[in-house]
Amino acid sequence: TPTIGVLALQGDVREHVRMLAASGAEAVPVRRREELLAVDGLVLPGGESTTMIKLIEAFELLEPLRKRVADGMPAFGTCAGMILLADKIADGIAGQETIGGMATTVRRNAFGRQVDSFEGDLAFTDGLAGDRPFHAVFIRAPWVEEVRGHARVLARVATGPATGRIVAVRQGHLLATAFHPELTGDPRVHEYFVGIVKEA
Ligand code: GLN
Repeated sequence: TPTIGVLALQGDVREHVRMLAASGAEAVPVRRREELLAVDGLVLPGGESTTMIKLIEAFELLEPLRKRVADGMPAFGTCAGMILLADKIADGIAGQETIGGMATTVRRNAFGRQVDSFEGDLAFTDGLAGDRPFHAVFIRAPWVEEVRGHARVLARVATGPATGRIVAVRQGHLLATAFHPELTGDPRVHEYFVGIVKEA
């Protein structure tokens, strides 16, 4: 059984812990460097990326996180976590740092202020979700503006004004979704990540 940490500085930590536990992993909160060094993989939850990066710096986790990601630790970011894994933020707050690692550019709050939240069914490539669509919940979500290098698109928005926008990406051991698979009770994306951790 792999041990998967959930970065527990801010955001929806508990929901991820529950989903990981239901997906065949032992899930533990991570706040300290020693805890980070002990896990086989890490989830970066949804929340508020600007707050999260400040806390990451205050807890002296930025360099340890960058090093573990660069050394091949599987990581899965949802929403704010997807922003943290991106190499670039489009129109980010000046100087907003990320952990980085994924050759992506993300746009924060991309779906617009008038729609704080929406839901929709996604068709995943890569057999992630079998043939059934995945019901995705977006909350002040980013989207991926650009993928480069080895980053591969796993899902795009299928309906509405944002049709075609990239909302799930994988780059080797790194996985990111603009939506919150931890909130809807469907374990397929978490199971997919647990599979990545087991392969690593
Ligand atoms: N808008 C948030 C941010 O920019 C992300 C929202 C979320 O994680 N649900 O960090």
